Amino acid sequence: RGTTPVPPDARPRLTVLSGPSGVGKSTVVAHMRKKHPEVWLSVSATTRKPRPGEQHGVHYFFVSDEEMDKLIANGELLEWAEFAGNRYGTPRAPVMERLEAGVPVLLEIDLQGARQVRETMPESRLVFLAPPSWEELVRRLTGRGTEPPEVIERRLQAAKVELAAEPEFDVTLVNTSVEDVARELLALMDVERS
Ligand code: 5GP
Repeated sequence: RGTTPVPPDARPRLTVLSGPSGVGKSTVVAHMRKKHPEVWLSVSATTRKPRPGEQHGVHYFFVSDEEMDKLIANGELLEWAEFAGNRYGTPRAPVMERLEAGVPVLLEIDLQGARQVRETMPESRLVFLAPPSWEELVRRLTGRGTEPPEVIERRLQAAKVELAAEPEFDVTLVNTSVEDVARELLALMDVERS
């Protein structure tokens, strides 16, 4: 027995969290979902190899290049982008199903993806997560310790370009404290404060 669809004007807006690599998007999202599991976070498909501890279907759907080609060709992705040598994309159907059922949906994606969502779903809310400073961003990207120097260098180059995109976003949140940003994001999404 399916759930009754929510009328279009009462549907929650899609919220997109973006910002430079290493700014702490995943940490904010993890914190937020611990307190409010009713917020649904889209699981992206990626051609990147799993990092230690990452699980298929939880953090990402880890797919081959051929599988990614198919997802794109079949129009199964709401948006997709190439980032630091790998492709990432948001499966469309699960997002639409949740929104129609009235569930608040969050996407944590890169800037190119955020731009595509703005075009295809103009009613969505785009949130830019900014680092407290450039030095802090470099520190975080370097300190992750899971990637070789050339990968870190590519991510730093990408971050420079990404920082310049802030004015394109509806809202900017500065990541000074994970708790504060998570709270602000929940308020933006109209999710009850705890
Ligand atoms: P990471 O490899 O560190 O998990 O992610 C690299 C970048 O890809 C991050 O900025 C992350 O937000 C972004 N990303 C993750 N999933 C998607 C997606 O489905 N679409 C787009 N456009 N970017 C994504």
